[in-house]
Amino acid sequence: MTAIGRSADSTLETGLPARDTSGMSLPPDYHMHTPLCRHAVGEPVEYARHALSLGFTEIGFSDHSPMARDDFDDWRMRRDQLDEYVLKVRAAQTEFPQLAIKLALEVDYLPGQEDWICQLAARHPWDYFIGSVHYVTDSWDIDNPNKLSQWKHRDPDEVWVAYFERLRQAAASGLFEIIGHADLPKKFGHRPTQDCKALYTRFLAACKQTDTAIELNTAGLRKDCKEIYPSRQILELAFAQGVPITFGSDAHAPDEVGLNFAEAIQLARAVGYRESRRFQARKRLAAIF
Ligand SMILES: [Zn+2]
Ligand SMILES: [Zn+2]
Repeated sequence: MTAIGRSADSTLETGLPARDTSGMSLPPDYHMHTPLCRHAVGEPVEYARHALSLGFTEIGFSDHSPMARDDFDDWRMRRDQLDEYVLKVRAAQTEFPQLAIKLALEVDYLPGQEDWICQLAARHPWDYFIGSVHYVTDSWDIDNPNKLSQWKHRDPDEVWVAYFERLRQAAASGLFEIIGHADLPKKFGHRPTQDCKALYTRFLAACKQTDTAIELNTAGLRKDCKEIYPSRQILELAFAQGVPITFGSDAHAPDEVGLNFAEAIQLARAVGYRESRRFQARKRLAAIF
């Protein structure tokens, strides 16, 4: 499950982890966006150039995937832009052959979308899918700043229960290699009042069962919660339950690539992790950090 496979990137050719300019070993940044999602700036070639300057040997693009219905919301690429997205990532691969650039998607998980997600999976030779829950109902994307007022009418404990039940379903579906930003409901600073250990444990058991990783997403440090997704509590439970991890900046601009990776690596190591997941054509590989 964690065997290091063969790949063209220098990490494995040298047997040593990638290092940034300060000598810190760098796991791949597997979460970055493109302007096709309508709320990010910079072309993939610019993200890749910045990643190289930071010392990364591997990154992955995981822009917001289209929904089956283009009018579902306004913060993702349209269905007819999927091929254009792949071409943009391919252009970065061509321009920077010394950098392993993975082709991926951040796919919204909503119950009932499984067939659509399978259709997406068949469209291109993806390296991995990040399964993310943004919607706790069909109309409330809890991280959308335009819908912040909705939180006034909601009990955070109920949101946490609904959110982690959807996240558990996403993990149990086996449709994803990675589950994105596991405790996203904390984004604006809302917190549950009750102990959620049982919720987290159930979700992580589904991850373990399907061999799905969770990501350490540094974007939380740039939001009101000022904390990496997920919390240290969740990460400790994940380590205890044998759930693998990946790292992602959730970059929506080239200069956000790799942002706060030092903190994320420090947190992962403090909890006990020494290895993160890598993916090639949806096969599971490992990187040491
Ligand atoms: Zn986004
Ligand atoms: Zn997301």
